[in-house]
Amino acid sequence: MRILITAGPTREPLDAVRMLTNRSSGQLGIAVASEAMNRGHDTTLLLGQGAIAPPQALDACCRRFDSTKDLEALLCEVFPAADLLIMAAAVADFIPEQAAAGTKQSRRDGPIQVTLHPAPDLVAALAKTKRPDQAIVGFALESAATLAERATAKLARKGLDAIVANPLDTMEATTITATLIWADGQIDAAPPALPKDEFAAWLLDRIAPSV
Ligand code: C5P
Repeated sequence: MRILITAGPTREPLDAVRMLTNRSSGQLGIAVASEAMNRGHDTTLLLGQGAIAPPQALDACCRRFDSTKDLEALLCEVFPAADLLIMAAAVADFIPEQAAAGTKQSRRDGPIQVTLHPAPDLVAALAKTKRPDQAIVGFALESAATLAERATAKLARKGLDAIVANPLDTMEATTITATLIWADGQIDAAPPALPKDEFAAWLLDRIAPSV
C-alpha cells in the first residue's frame, strides 16, 4: 500500500526572523511512518521543520515542509500517488499577514498589531479531490470534555474516512489515549496511554490492511 503521512507543525513567518507555530513534536506521525515502512508499505513522510529529528531509517522517504503553503504544494504533488493519507500534521488555523519582505519589526516602534487570516483547510480540500480508491484519516485534538462530539463533526465536515480523536495533552507527550471514529459511525477505542509506537501499530492494524 502507498501510505502518505504528514506530521509536525507548520511555521508561518511574521517577519524575516519571527514565526507563528505550535507545540506539535511530530512524534506520532514519525512513529506511524516507521511502522508503515517496517510493514513493507511504500511510505512517504512529510515532516514539519519544527518537529523532532526522525530516525535515519526514514531519511529516504522523508520530505520537509515549513509553512502551510509549503505543505499544500507537497500534498498537491504526492497525494495523487497515495492510497492512504494519514494527516497528523498540526497545520496552522491562522496565517499572519506578513510585514514587508525582508524586514524585522523593532520594539522601538512601539506596539504592533498582527492580522491573522484563516488558513486553508488542506485535508478538507484534498478530500474533495480524492478518488474512490483513496482514503484519508485525519486527527482531532480537542479538550476531553468535547472530544467525541467535535471529532465526529470534524470527520463529516472535512469529508474524511476516519478520524483519530485525541485529547489536548497528547501534544508533546510520549503516550496517547485515542479513539478511531469511522465515517459510518463505528468507534474503535485504543487501550489507554499507549506509547506512540504501539499506537502506530494499533492504528495501522485498523486502517491499512497488511501486505
Ligand atoms: O480543524 P482542525 O485543525 O481541528 O482539524 C485537524 C485535522 O485537519 C488534522 O488532520 C489536520 O492535519 C487537518 N488540518 C488541515 N488544514 C488546516 C488545519 C487542520 O489539513 N489548516
